[in-house]
Amino acid sequence: MLKSALALLTLPLGFALGCVGNTQVPPPLPPNPLRSDLNAAPTTAKAAQTIDPYLSPFAVRDLYVAPRSSLSKTIAKLALPQAEQTALIASLEAQIDPSRIASGTHLKAITLHQGDLLPSRVETELSANEILTSEHCGPTCWTSTKKTLPIEHRTAAFAGVVTSTLWNSAGEAGMDQQLTTKLTDVFAWQFDSSREVQSGDRWRMTIDQLFAAGKPVGYGEIIAAEYSRGGNIYAAVRYDTDGTPHFYTPKGDSLRRLFLKSPLRFARVTSGFSKGRFHPILRVRRPHRGIDYGAPRGTPVMAVGDGEVTVAGRRGPSGNMIALKHTGPYETQYKHLSRFATGIKAGSKVTSGQVIGYVGATGRATGPHLHFELHVNGRYVDPEGVAFPAADPVPAREIDKFRLVSNQAVASLPPWSKETINTAAVRRKPVAAE
Ligand SMILES: [Zn+2]
Repeated sequence: MLKSALALLTLPLGFALGCVGNTQVPPPLPPNPLRSDLNAAPTTAKAAQTIDPYLSPFAVRDLYVAPRSSLSKTIAKLALPQAEQTALIASLEAQIDPSRIASGTHLKAITLHQGDLLPSRVETELSANEILTSEHCGPTCWTSTKKTLPIEHRTAAFAGVVTSTLWNSAGEAGMDQQLTTKLTDVFAWQFDSSREVQSGDRWRMTIDQLFAAGKPVGYGEIIAAEYSRGGNIYAAVRYDTDGTPHFYTPKGDSLRRLFLKSPLRFARVTSGFSKGRFHPILRVRRPHRGIDYGAPRGTPVMAVGDGEVTVAGRRGPSGNMIALKHTGPYETQYKHLSRFATGIKAGSKVTSGQVIGYVGATGRATGPHLHFELHVNGRYVDPEGVAFPAADPVPAREIDKFRLVSNQAVASLPPWSKETINTAAVRRKPVAAE
């Protein structure tokens, strides 16, 4: 981004600024026949000074659609004569809706011939592999064509060992937040990545990496992943049923459970479930029935399972709280929220993973955090270690096909990380509670 911004500042566009540092005056160049409409002498003395006919014959100017702007407004920055601009936008509109182009979209205005005053080609990157090319075809004539580059799939492998948090180990392995979330989401029903991860845990995974024209353009879905934790290995392979990815054990059992292990994707546990602890505000020893997740104000809070909202309102020391009634004997509660998600009120139906509210510090709280409770038959239960019912395994009629996919997926995994742990896990202090 920074490089592109610099390019924007330093790369001259045909008609603008630009000086190649050449003090000798070279012979005049023949006008560009394609651009005779634009090669006319500039009308002001100021413009005449800015034109350098000895620019590189191929100059590129980078532009980006600003937030709350549009493709048309971005093109206006090229300062084309009005009739040219109208023709260019009309040719774009024949292919796409310019008002629906995302902010940040990259445009290249390209000057193809030496001496050109204005760009002859504008390339709009609609997506990682879709380019809309607009060519100047004569006075007030532009044609736009959309080209889709084929996506090539390659397998990328990552492995790591946890020394502080899973997030740090993934970062050290070269994974960004989006990629790390894919890993934690696969095991979101098996363990809580904020409190059930320990120093010394090892993980490895392979994922579909996408390329267009030889350039990496993003990631698809995880192919296989393993997480080794306290002598257990959690294994996942992807198998697509009904066109959507599902994760199973290599034997074909579903990883999906009735409840996610955590209502937050990014958090750390500041106070775990316990029968007795010293209360930081009331200054008495009393049981902590629930889990406190420290997270910045505004962090999205997810429903851990499908259910119905029974409470969404302010409740004394609990602050803004949500209670969900799930199937069977289960209920979950989410407290101290800064606010509720749109449409969340008593009687609303929610689905597993749906954002229902946002972390806050309402009610009796020393700082922004989520207090989360699971109730079974009206009693508090620590979700850690509870085996919730699993979703359906791979259908029997597909099991042979599944085994082939599963064997290949497991074989694609890289070796485990060989890194050794020499730092003891740091005990974290609670910072926010109740
Ligand atoms: Zn609490």
